[in-house]
Amino acid sequence: MYFDLRKEGWLEVICGSMFAGKTEELIRRLKRLEYAKKTFYVFKPQIDNRYSDTDVVSHNGQAIQAIAINSPQEALDFLTPDTAVVAFDEVQFFDESVIEVIELIAAKGIRVIAAGLDMDFRGEPFGVIPKLLAKAEFVTKLTAICTVCGEPATRTQRLIDGQPANYHDPIVLVGAKESYEARCRHCHQVQKDYRNQIKEN
Ligand SMILES: [Zn+2]
Repeated sequence: MYFDLRKEGWLEVICGSMFAGKTEELIRRLKRLEYAKKTFYVFKPQIDNRYSDTDVVSHNGQAIQAIAINSPQEALDFLTPDTAVVAFDEVQFFDESVIEVIELIAAKGIRVIAAGLDMDFRGEPFGVIPKLLAKAEFVTKLTAICTVCGEPATRTQRLIDGQPANYHDPIVLVGAKESYEARCRHCHQVQKDYRNQIKEN
């Protein structure tokens, strides 16, 4: 899968739906760096404070230390001459400037790993992900298992009180009673009725 790159510094993207094992895959790659005694940093957006404020934690409970930042530029302050790898988790929640920051880091000869959701709950490309996929040297697209039919799942189903969410709902819900499950293209459902639209607070 990996072609023969002799110059250090490139972008790897790990993407997929929720429950596809993106964070497990990110942690797997980072653990290998730990064993190799390489210097690496993991950044995540401040918005994501589930489980822990300073760790990247996967659904299977594995953890690795991460630094929560508000703006992608803050990552640049941490770079040292011996930095081998920089990772961004939940990269879909960073603003567009993360692209420039990633390109800058890769140009310095540092390997960059970006992990995140490739589609939002509607099945639409999520934030900066499409551009990162285009610019990446290596892309790993993981699938989950569809909770309805058991086939490989590529989509994230949002449910509000057990019902499929509306297309016009906000991408990021705060404080709503929503739940998520992995579904395939055929079982993924989104309502498109304006009348059922959930009001943004
Ligand atoms: Zn299905």
